[in-house]
Amino acid sequence: MEREVLEFDVQWIGAGPAGLAGAIHLADLIERHNQSIAAGAPGTPIPETTIAVLEKAARVGAHGLSGLVMDPRGMLELIPDFRARGCPIEAEVSSDDVYLMWQGGQLRLPITPPPLQNHGNLIASLGTLTEWMAGIAESKGVLIATETPAASPLVEGGRVVGVRSGDKGIDKLGAKKSTYQPGADCRAKLTVLCEGPRGTVAKALEKSLGLTVGKNPQVYSTGVKELWEMPPGRVQKGRIIHTMGFPLTNDTFGGGFIYGAGDSHWAIGFVTGLDAHDPTNDPHGNLQRFKTHPFVRALLEGGKPVSYGAKAIPEGGWYAMPKLYADGLLLCGDTAGFLNGGRLKGIHLAIKSGMLAAEQAFECLLAGDFSAAELAGYEKRVADSWAGAELRGMRNFHQAFDGGLWTALPRTGFQMYMGGLDPLGDHLKGHAGHERMRKLRDVHPDGKPAVAKADGKLDDKTMSALSRYLKIEGQPADNPSVTEALVTELSKHATRVCPVQCDQGQTLKGETCVADHKPEAAPATASGKSNGGEDTARRRQQATGEQAQPRRPKSAPEAPRARAQALARPSIVGGGGSGHTLIGVGF
Ligand SMILES: Cc1cc2nc3c(=O)[nH]c(=O)nc-3n(C[C@H](O)[C@H](O)[C@H](O)COP(=O)(O)OP(=O)(O)OC[C@H]3O[C@@H](n4cnc5c(N)ncnc54)[C@H](O)[C@@H]3O)c2cc1C
Repeated sequence: MEREVLEFDVQWIGAGPAGLAGAIHLADLIERHNQSIAAGAPGTPIPETTIAVLEKAARVGAHGLSGLVMDPRGMLELIPDFRARGCPIEAEVSSDDVYLMWQGGQLRLPITPPPLQNHGNLIASLGTLTEWMAGIAESKGVLIATETPAASPLVEGGRVVGVRSGDKGIDKLGAKKSTYQPGADCRAKLTVLCEGPRGTVAKALEKSLGLTVGKNPQVYSTGVKELWEMPPGRVQKGRIIHTMGFPLTNDTFGGGFIYGAGDSHWAIGFVTGLDAHDPTNDPHGNLQRFKTHPFVRALLEGGKPVSYGAKAIPEGGWYAMPKLYADGLLLCGDTAGFLNGGRLKGIHLAIKSGMLAAEQAFECLLAGDFSAAELAGYEKRVADSWAGAELRGMRNFHQAFDGGLWTALPRTGFQMYMGGLDPLGDHLKGHAGHERMRKLRDVHPDGKPAVAKADGKLDDKTMSALSRYLKIEGQPADNPSVTEALVTELSKHATRVCPVQCDQGQTLKGETCVADHKPEAAPATASGKSNGGEDTARRRQQATGEQAQPRRPKSAPEAPRARAQALARPSIVGGGGSGHTLIGVGF
């Protein structure tokens, strides 16, 4: 069977905030340039340019996962009137608290540390935010091809010329079925990787292009999150709570968050550093234990979990960012480590990095040159931008946790007032997660501890909610054996979890990675109509307000109710992809 070849001018890999912001901004820059020339300005117009975004998920936003809080700075630059244009914002941050927790007790910090201050930030679901951004992009002529995972890079003579998408019609064991279709070669003058943390293509290119030479190793946390639907009057819309301590030991990086997502839902999550000493470190278990703390239990009592997801977070900071360019290639967003670990925020940085990449791509289009020499300007743009300044200010943040939380508190406090300089110096070395991890016998001389069960109440609620959606054949949802099977299944994935797991299109089964068994989908074509174009048409209508809308724009009066219904619909989808989403939902 012949391999399809698609040709684009600029392609963005990943329809997260980075890829979509980049595509939107590039389309805007070209349109403005051509309009000014038509109005008499000197120069030559840029001929029709094909801009594509390739997304592995079945729909844009389905693999999106964040806490819910967005610093609006990036979005304000990208689409200044984003609120008037129906951007799905749930609420504005109304209060901000930080708690230090220990088993059975907590202390509210009298002053919220500056990185955790959220005044002026907005509550928005990343899934719906990116769905809305996709509509804006499509209304500007950007092609969005869903169900198109970039599986490997195409490199010719040291130059990145595109990506090859994953094959379709492969059975569980990796054998070709009768419906087999080879992935398409998506070629472009410029490929911009926006795959989120530890991208498949980025990892494949890292060594051959020397992207990480001389950099600190990237270090990851796993963020596990649940959305809880609560009885009326129990959620303080826009309330932000961050926690330190319980259930983590001093030597494990991380903490909890609880965000008031609208009137009826708490978004509750826990971030666990994967550079812990303890090899039995358990991000999923930490969220379940966190929920049993009296302070958290009181907030959740009477509610029920309706969504669950987990995803990696690149925590290494400025010195762990890879080289951001090569011939025919740029890196953006989480793929390139654009994340402020002290604030648990990356959406605004992802947006800004996409915009800066678009500005560089625009220069390259004018020059007709996509060589590394021309693309190097992107790194300067990043360094000179507010995003660069923000990340430089936190450049030693994660390294300060090398000695544990208690020494990190004064050290990071010092850094805040010294523009990022640490009391132990500058440009501090980082350590890959596996380098900090100790041997099981050193941490647990009496042998591996049993997977700790939380209290059998709040965690069981999560398990039984999940069981309804994992479709264990022939088993009723409330069957205890299903819950047990789920605990076993989840503990396989979420205990001692490490983003260094399976390749694109594979899932961890026991100790080995096997090819995903996916329902076959029509291949994405240059028209992007992988589902008959329905998504495309719907998103374009949402963004532009065109006639004959099957669904109303998010800004319409019905939107809050539709959103509440969507939130209330329990959801869980098998994640995977670039090895970062374990079980993910678009929220
Ligand atoms: C639990 C948690 C809480 C967080 N809370 C916040 C918060 O409150 N505020 C905040 O600002 N940030 C938060 N973040 C961080 C934020 O989510 C990320 O920084 C941000 O989403 C990065 O955007 P991105 O576009 O780089 O990547 P992503 O949002 O990860 O998007 C990447 C996209 O690329 C797709 N993709 C991946 N690989 C491929 C491939 N090979 N081919 C095709 N498509 C591919 C994925 O499906 C996905 O749609 C949180 C993160 C986590 C995990």
